[in-house]
Amino acid sequence: MHNNGAILLISGPSGCGKSTLLKEVYKNIDKYYFSISTTTRAPREGEKHGIDYLFVSKEEFEADIKANNFLEYANVHGNYYGTSLKPVKQALKEDKLVIFDIDVQGHDLVKKTELSTYVTSVFITTPSLKELENRLNSRATDSKEVIEKRVSNAKIEINAIDKYDYFLINDDLQEASKKLVSLANIAKINATLFNKDEVVKAWMK
Ligand code: ADP
Ligand code: 5GP
Repeated sequence: MHNNGAILLISGPSGCGKSTLLKEVYKNIDKYYFSISTTTRAPREGEKHGIDYLFVSKEEFEADIKANNFLEYANVHGNYYGTSLKPVKQALKEDKLVIFDIDVQGHDLVKKTELSTYVTSVFITTPSLKELENRLNSRATDSKEVIEKRVSNAKIEINAIDKYDYFLINDDLQEASKKLVSLANIAKINATLFNKDEVVKAWMK
């Protein structure tokens, strides 16, 4: 019985706490690979090229699109964001849990690809829209206009929750982190990852 890795796909409005939660998850799971997206947005203070994102120009991004390098890509809040296919395939081959932090458009696109059977998806948000605004304001990494755009997109994104396998409210950080660790472990035992014929044959032996 073998398992060729799995994908934990998380989405949620910008500022709901995805990156913060993932940092907690990394302390509690092993054999994971965070899919580093490519983006045309400018780095925030403290973000590093090759760790948080691959920060590129619009021209470089469009060259990657032409070369078919992306599993999926989308325009989110006015910038391009995309997931490179090659490192994801390599990590799956190494039986790793691949983690995607991508938007709802990216989720829909991934679900249409050959990798969809690997996916366990989680939609994360704050207890309320007001709390989302508070977090974006207190993070203080974006201008007023950028925050307004993210908040107005959040009102649309929330309508996608029923497309996801799980829904998680990030209220108390410790509690939500524990739940996300559980879901990361569940992702690895998703029934669709196993080859039925192999399982039945091995089990009958
Ligand atoms: P995202 O990755 O979803 O854009 P971040 O992880 O950057 O969001 O979190 C946005 C802000 O909210 C950060 O300032 C972070 O410290 C804060 N935050 C994250 N989780 C919580 C929580 N459970 N309670 C209060 N503040 C939180
Ligand atoms: P941020 O600019 O706050 O880092 O991310 C903005 C949004 O882009 C978030 O909703 C995040 O999940 C999404 N995002 C990040 N990387 C990708 C990607 O590779 N593809 C898609 N479709 N969305 C992404």
